[in-house]
Amino acid sequence: MEYVKLSNGVSMPILGYGVYQVTKEECERCVLDALKAGYRSIDTAQAYFNEEEVGTAIEKSGIPREEIFLTSKVWVEHYGYEECRKSVEESLKKLRTGYIDLMLLHQPFADYYGAWRALEELYEEGKLRAVGISNFYPDRLVDLASFARIRPMVNQVETHPYNQQILAKEYMDKYGVQIEAWAPFGEGRGGLFEDAVLTETGAKYGKTAAQIMLRWHIQRGVVVIPKSVHYERMEENFNVFDFTLSREDMERIKALDKKESAFFSHQDPATVEWFVQMVEERKKNR
Ligand code: NDP
Repeated sequence: MEYVKLSNGVSMPILGYGVYQVTKEECERCVLDALKAGYRSIDTAQAYFNEEEVGTAIEKSGIPREEIFLTSKVWVEHYGYEECRKSVEESLKKLRTGYIDLMLLHQPFADYYGAWRALEELYEEGKLRAVGISNFYPDRLVDLASFARIRPMVNQVETHPYNQQILAKEYMDKYGVQIEAWAPFGEGRGGLFEDAVLTETGAKYGKTAAQIMLRWHIQRGVVVIPKSVHYERMEENFNVFDFTLSREDMERIKALDKKESAFFSHQDPATVEWFVQMVEERKKNR
């Protein structure tokens, strides 16, 4: 495994396993499989409703807690200082752990400053080993990185060959914030797994398009957290440390950038309204 060093000196595996859209029913088995395949970094979130299953799997695995890098994220309805603190305590309970390695603010909406102050405190109390953000694009990143007391250590954003985040990464580098890719395969949207450049490059190295994508991220210094519910794919996605893409191949993949989201833009007011509606509905159903 290779590691990146966060701005506070904490080491984070460059490859982890993500559990978004892994159902409650499958999550424990999936995390146990991922740990068996060799992963030591797990990415979950309050909004995935599977923190309990992640916690149970880690406990059942028998792997010492300190060998696992555990990430979770605070959801928007828990923003604001008080609510955020409470929700992190709740996450700690669900994850059956005394500390979380990395806690992120999941979205750049609502009272994220209040929530950030709670994360700063929890970090200083040792309940969080590192703190960060997700889906903060350069404007909001510069804002929080400049005015917060503690600068975020990680920013998790959609990143894959069709949306490479070159400008966003430049800002993260400038502010010492580690970039982490969500949807490192773009969930296969737009035919990424079948892309001719990726499959041809794969054939050259005896690797799959998925492995080429992960290797490309890693060589750019981007942390990746691919998701799969299939054990063979977990192994395939883990097996990316025995080859190196040439400079020419890195450049060919760089040319695939469409510079736009395969999902939705966080800067589109319609997207923000969609998040507002989701938060209101969840509050109603609590
Ligand atoms: P990914 O880009 O990781 O793609 C996952 C999809 O690819 C699944 O359909 C999976 O299918 C398939 N797949 C995985 N490996 C292979 C392979 N080797 N060959 C072919 N198909 C494969 O998308 P995610 O959205 O899951 O992103 C990864 C993680 O990022 C999430 O799990 C989550 O932890 C995080 N995330 C964070 C977000 C945020 O807002 N902060 C938003 C979205 C994700 P199958 O499972 O059937 O194998």
